[in-house]
Amino acid sequence: MFRRIRARRERERETAAIQRWHEQITATHTWPLQASTPQQPTDTGRLGARVDDFLPADLRVPGRDEIAGMMMPRRRPLIIDGEVRACPQCGAYRDWIILSTRDEVWLRCRAGHQMLEPRLDTAWYNRNSGPTDAIHATFEDGLKHLGHPAG
Ligand SMILES: [Zn+2]
Repeated sequence: MFRRIRARRERERETAAIQRWHEQITATHTWPLQASTPQQPTDTGRLGARVDDFLPADLRVPGRDEIAGMMMPRRRPLIIDGEVRACPQCGAYRDWIILSTRDEVWLRCRAGHQMLEPRLDTAWYNRNSGPTDAIHATFEDGLKHLGHPAG
């Protein structure tokens, strides 16, 4: 009996750990302050290799001052101060894009409603996002890449 309870606790712990890990790997997507020279639309949305010569674009991570913002998807409900955050305009409560720009955190629902979330900040964003995994030429490219309609 005890053994069975212990086994179940073990499983629950594992599940929780896996969930935390999934949360942690929510990759961050960034877009630069200004799109450099106009580029052909490429499939990956990454910056072209001509941006800087000393490293291939895939290896190059722009400095903080070159980044206009960061974004990450959040499929699950977002709970802030114990309450589920819902879009005031359409009532959506999951499938957010969370944006971090100029020390502010913005939420964007699937319908494209965008709102400032003053209870969250860059520090929160950094705690909850994974490493940068893609750089998009524009904000709209990033949205599209994350499966959200742009505009
Ligand atoms: Zn909405």
